[in-house]
Amino acid sequence: MSEYDYDLLVIGAGSGGVRASRFAAQYGAKVGIIEERYLGGTCVNVGCVPKKLFVFASHYRETFHCAPGYGWHAGSIKFDWNQLRQNKDKEIERLNGIYEKLLHTAGVEIIEGSGQLKGPHEIAVGDETYTAKYILLAVGGWPWVPDVPGAEHAITSNEAFYLDELPERVVIVGGGYIAVEFAGIFNGLGVETHLCYRRELFLRGFDCDLRKHLAQEMPKKGIHLHFDADIERIEKGANGLLAVYTKQGETIEAGRVMYATGRRPKTEGLGLENTAVQLTDSGHLRVNELFQTDEPSIHALGDVTGPAELTPVALAQGMILARHLFGEEKIAPVDYRNIPTAVFSQPTMATCGLTEDQAREEYENIVIYRGAFRPMQYTLPDISERALVKLVVDRDTDKVLGCHMVGPEAAEIMQGFGVALTAGATKTDFDRTIGIHPTLAEEFVTLRQPEEH
Ligand code: NDP
Repeated sequence: MSEYDYDLLVIGAGSGGVRASRFAAQYGAKVGIIEERYLGGTCVNVGCVPKKLFVFASHYRETFHCAPGYGWHAGSIKFDWNQLRQNKDKEIERLNGIYEKLLHTAGVEIIEGSGQLKGPHEIAVGDETYTAKYILLAVGGWPWVPDVPGAEHAITSNEAFYLDELPERVVIVGGGYIAVEFAGIFNGLGVETHLCYRRELFLRGFDCDLRKHLAQEMPKKGIHLHFDADIERIEKGANGLLAVYTKQGETIEAGRVMYATGRRPKTEGLGLENTAVQLTDSGHLRVNELFQTDEPSIHALGDVTGPAELTPVALAQGMILARHLFGEEKIAPVDYRNIPTAVFSQPTMATCGLTEDQAREEYENIVIYRGAFRPMQYTLPDISERALVKLVVDRDTDKVLGCHMVGPEAAEIMQGFGVALTAGATKTDFDRTIGIHPTLAEEFVTLRQPEEH
């Protein structure tokens, strides 16, 4: 008989928590998972999944716009936001149910409520106290809004998924994944969309060519980009509209203002003070490469730990932790170097490996291959949008260090090239790969002319 109620108690039933608990249970551990809000966490409820559904919805505007170029003439076109929202909610409910079933089938007990650490092996949920040999904190993050006057009038992505009606005009503040993705969504759904970013070019941290290219292409879709636009205050007018004032002297009036200025680890009220768990400077939970915090029995993974706040990373971490704690074979830690990722902007941007700047810092002899062209599907409708593909190669080893693209289906394309980069593909490997014609993806295997600097 174990001295504990559970082998593993998890707080947070999001991507990482659910994956770790299911796999731990499959390895024979007695597992409980504590969740206060919804099964599936941010990704399923107010993140990746509903976002992608909204991206699909918003793309139809362009599809209808392109249709006559291909001989199709639809009748009058009407968009019904409530129908989209209701259908999305129904789908999320279905996924919540699937998560519940997955946990039940794996033998994981679901404990509803908010978990608070009472010690290295103890968690209180309401009046109950549970003990566990190991505890996993997978509590994720929460949107963060800076303290500007009038910020209380703004919404975040959490609320954007549940708006009663779409505004005529929206101001989005921020220049990261969420800001850029929602700019495409709102614009595609017919909302006049203004994105305000505080510095000269958004998507800091991504390859510079991609950022510049996207900044050229998004306005072609109708999105208004305001760079060097730092918000000074927001005021609500008598007409109910919100006036957004920038420090640079611009004023934009809109029905809604959405802040997408980053997410913070959700550690408040977790009872960390009752343990030896420490935070990093950024407020994330400090863990080693096997997700152990400074309190040896307590582990943490996913967004609350920080290194790459992405669902597939949390899934990989959850699987590794379960195997590490309860499985027989030990496996290698997560490799954070070649994580393929996409911003579901319009057009989509996707990337894997090092940016050109990062590569030049690490390697002496970098060579760049680049191509920009109009995607084939835009020829007949005569749309001027251009796609960009780019490879960053180490001349000394011939290794492809970075693969980057902006264009239709960039995310789908990049997943495959992620495998190539993970396997250590060289430029010669790319060159001897036969293309699939006619596709956008084939451009990556036909880039022959290096750019000299
Ligand atoms: P990001 O960290 O990506 O971007 C935050 C943005 O807010 C940056 O442009 C930042 O500017 C800006 N910002 C920060 N503080 C302020 C401030 N005080 N005033 C004005 N602007 C500010 O956060 P997101 O909220 O967009 O997304 C959170 C995370 O969720 C992402 O990092 C990503 O890991 C994940 N995610 C992934 C998605 C995907 O895989 N497709 C989709 C959505 C989210 P600056 O650059 O100047 O610091």
